[in-house]
Amino acid sequence: MRILIVEDESQLARHVASALTRHGHVPTIKNDGLEALQAASAQPPDLIVLDLNLPGLDGLSVLARLKQAGCPSRVLILTARNEVEHRIKGLNAGADDYLAKPFAMEELLARIEALGRRGAVAASTELLTVADLCMDVQHRRVTRGGQPVALSPREFDLLQLLMQEPGRVFSRTELCERVWQRDHEYDTRTVEIFITRLRRKVDAPAATPLIHTHRGIGYCVSDMPGAGSSSPFSKA
Ligand code: CA
Repeated sequence: MRILIVEDESQLARHVASALTRHGHVPTIKNDGLEALQAASAQPPDLIVLDLNLPGLDGLSVLARLKQAGCPSRVLILTARNEVEHRIKGLNAGADDYLAKPFAMEELLARIEALGRRGAVAASTELLTVADLCMDVQHRRVTRGGQPVALSPREFDLLQLLMQEPGRVFSRTELCERVWQRDHEYDTRTVEIFITRLRRKVDAPAATPLIHTHRGIGYCVSDMPGAGSSSPFSKA
């Protein structure tokens, strides 16, 4: 993959770049947010490893501007371990995943490999349909009421998993494990943020919501009214 490393700690950036090169990737480094924005706008890389605290323009602004401009690059943000707010803002702004600093190089490589996989959920030639929501899994296209819905790779994976078993409630932990290959309870907030992103794209423009929350348990996709809400009869 062509990977843009945006990191102002030069030694760390070089360290990451050489590890990526050893693993067959083609990295470039930018130490400044504004330069990174210009480089990624001119030629979007496959993936951007984006530090948030940067000279020139901060990472969140870089991310927001790229996503507003429709930049298709996947984005992994680097945050300090105590910057939970920044992680949430980053995911809300369109990042696909995050890694807290300081990190082990193996962990960064694993995250990058997971993001680079075309689909984290098994690919197939299936056409998935729930009401007027259609997913062409092979060509990774989604429409709602015939209108195309543009999803990021991880948004697509999450929706695919939910659409494969309409009506089944998936726990946040299971979604986290299967879509992000993360196994910590701590990361399930990421799932909530991606569900919100999906709702904005899939449900907001339509009359009937298809993504449902099962309070305290998880989420499902269904066209049955009241799916996912607790019913007094559900334990009968
Ligand atoms: Ca920095």
